[in-house]
Amino acid sequence: MTLNRQPISVFDAVSKVVENVSHIDVETVKLEDSYNRYLAEDLTATHNVPLFTRSAMDGFAIRSQDSAKGAEFKVVEEVPAGSMSDYELKEYEAFRIMTGAELPKSADTVVMFEQANVTEDTFTLRKTFEPYDNVAIEGEECEKGEVILHKGSQINPGTVATLATFGYAEVKVYRVPVVGVLSTGSELLEVSDELERGKIRNSNTPMIMAQLERIGVHAKRYNLEEDNLETLLEKIEKMFNEVDAVITTGGVSVGDYDLLPKVYDKLGAEVLFNKVAMRPGSVTTVARAQGKFLFGLSGNPSACYSGFELFARPAILLMQGSTRAFAPFINAKLGEDFKKANPFTRFIRAEIDFIDGTVISKPAGFNKSNAVTSIAKSNGVIVLPGGTRGFEAGDEVQVMMTDVTSGVSHFQVKQ
Ligand code: AMP
Ligand code: MG
Repeated sequence: MTLNRQPISVFDAVSKVVENVSHIDVETVKLEDSYNRYLAEDLTATHNVPLFTRSAMDGFAIRSQDSAKGAEFKVVEEVPAGSMSDYELKEYEAFRIMTGAELPKSADTVVMFEQANVTEDTFTLRKTFEPYDNVAIEGEECEKGEVILHKGSQINPGTVATLATFGYAEVKVYRVPVVGVLSTGSELLEVSDELERGKIRNSNTPMIMAQLERIGVHAKRYNLEEDNLETLLEKIEKMFNEVDAVITTGGVSVGDYDLLPKVYDKLGAEVLFNKVAMRPGSVTTVARAQGKFLFGLSGNPSACYSGFELFARPAILLMQGSTRAFAPFINAKLGEDFKKANPFTRFIRAEIDFIDGTVISKPAGFNKSNAVTSIAKSNGVIVLPGGTRGFEAGDEVQVMMTDVTSGVSHFQVKQ
């Protein structure tokens, strides 16, 4: 079974993940807890904004028909913010008005203090004024009933302000999925363990937890498992019952002790794909069981990193209804030669910089699939399409901006 894997393109693999996403349930949270969550209902204006026609400046409210260069006005009343007046202005009369105060019905324009020659109770104009100069008109920003943001929008600071404006003390959002992370491999040690011959420390679990944190998910961490079918199956079954999505690392390849394919089999999971035409991480596997995703990422740190960004990130965001679940792809100039040819799409941890108006990307150091330090130095991933030729400095390439958390609506990789 595992030896006969058919590779599918990166784009098709991402599409399969997207097609299989189902929305997670909805909960109501307080406004102050809503930041970074995803709206589960449209945000509708509960009133006009501005709610009433008001002065946009500190100055004098007058009738525009009285305005002319040199015209002299008498100040009859003062209207600070939060007050109002029903006084009927007569010819060449004015209110002294402050920003945010309701514009009295008999006035239609505001002269800024800086636009008037002011004496004690009077002022003269330096120019004429049109109706509604320096005035914010009722409903000019939005009208009652208007949909301001659609469900699936991420709540940013501006959304919080908008919710507050309309009196939403609570808001319906998608629940943050519980995502379990488990690293497998008999060679693995915990971070605090002393190194032993033939063993390495587990760097994947903490890395994925940080990648999850970056998209607003606090992961559920599981302790290491050895390459033993019985205990591994037991652990993943337990995990499966406790979480909304399972991420494992290691054991998806075709080695003698790569046991995840057997685990999927025993769980009765549907394997969406188990070979992707990409390097590193061609063995990356995504499966579904009982409406939950199982992401089987390669144990190689770099492969694990890009596998998460390509498949787990959008799936976890789409589960929450996100309309911008994908890391943006941008075009960049390659900063140095990359001669290694490859039949598969290649993902290279990269340093992206903006120099003299051009985006330059270059590999971030040692770049084999087991590299971990190059991930640390990177702030994006160069994506080279499959083909036999290498690439040269100056070639235009695509870069996946993994570090940009406000994503885009579509996966834009070039094949
Ligand atoms: P695997 O995917 O199990 O075949 O592992 C591929 C390579 O990644 C091996 O060299 C492993 O030792 C290494 N590896 C596996 N899991 C981890 C991990 N959690 N942290 C760091 N390296 C790992
Ligand atoms: Mg292994």
